[in-house]
Amino acid sequence: MGYDLYGLRPSDMEVPDCDFSDDDTTKAYFAWQKNTMGAYFRSNMWGWRPLWGYVTESCDDILSSKDALKGTHNGGHKISKTKAIKIARRISKLNKNGELRGFVQSYEEWSNNLSDEDCNICDGTGTRKGWEGWQSESEWLKHHDTLDEVENADESISVAQVIAGNAGILNQLKQVQQVSYRWANTCKGCNSCHGKGKKKNFKRSYFLNEADVIEFGDFCRHSGGFTIH
Ligand SMILES: [Zn+2]
Repeated sequence: MGYDLYGLRPSDMEVPDCDFSDDDTTKAYFAWQKNTMGAYFRSNMWGWRPLWGYVTESCDDILSSKDALKGTHNGGHKISKTKAIKIARRISKLNKNGELRGFVQSYEEWSNNLSDEDCNICDGTGTRKGWEGWQSESEWLKHHDTLDEVENADESISVAQVIAGNAGILNQLKQVQQVSYRWANTCKGCNSCHGKGKKKNFKRSYFLNEADVIEFGDFCRHSGGFTIH
């Protein structure tokens, strides 16, 4: 998932109509979009949140709290040309006076110092329920009847469901006991944290860098106003 921003009148041009069912006009449209300043800006969800957060904080006299909030949704919220130009000027100023660099550095410092979280698959123990004895065959057989895999209920659970953190699925995963010694050993007791019991803090997936903020400022300057999808 990401955020797509479209200029309303990029480089002072009308946005061309495009019949996306036709290959040639689609190709021409994307070529136009790529070569027209202010036509398009994209960010993934991990990059957009901190970027928009920084922009709204630095431009709190330009953007309303409604703009700030709606900019975190994909609902097509519109930012006017006047506001877009003011944002561009503000970013340019923050870049020149070094404040942008300072902010990005302190953001990175904060992010790097976030402590690891307990793994939610093994409850921070490093060994999943039912995977006891993964360290060696002899240890395994103290807890299980066989080294072989019995039916593994994991197969019906997608990674996406696990990432979404569905509580029911997490419980289901924790209850799975039938797994082969080989798999448990390969995973070092937990296929999520590999025996560490800890995982990188979720918030560290978010990132902020100077180049993206500057590129966003350039987009704003030429966009003629934009919408956020
Ligand atoms: Zn784990």
